[in-house]
Amino acid sequence: MPIDPTRPYDDDNIFARILRDEIPSKRVYEDEWAIAFHDINPQARLHILVIPRGKYVSWDDFAAKANDEEIGGFIRAVANVAREHDLVQPGYRLLANVGHDGGQEVPHLHVHLFGGQRLGPMIA
Ligand code: C5P
Repeated sequence: MPIDPTRPYDDDNIFARILRDEIPSKRVYEDEWAIAFHDINPQARLHILVIPRGKYVSWDDFAAKANDEEIGGFIRAVANVAREHDLVQPGYRLLANVGHDGGQEVPHLHVHLFGGQRLGPMIA
């Protein structure tokens, strides 16, 4: 079920629990600002989720409440994950679903990183 991105942050959402290592994930990256792990249901040959360590429900919540250092740190972390997977030259795709119409299912901001193949056009 898509989430309401305006609701308060839920400390027990699945990505909060992954951040706290309460449930396992295939972690591929971590720094001061973010962690990244393989999506359990990959939609491309490489499908990684990058999430901030801070408690933000959605992209909108992050843009509204995070300070510039956090925002910069998170954006750099996403780029670092792509670089460390040698995706810069072949290219890759980033996606953040927001709320009901975006189809966001997990109420902790996450950026999908897709790569490892030529990706087709994607609207819906
Ligand atoms: O953007 P959206 O909220 O729809 O994406 C949630 C993503 O989180 C899905 O791609 C799903 O496969 C992934 N997921 C995961 N590990 C979980 C639960 C969900 O990788 N334990």
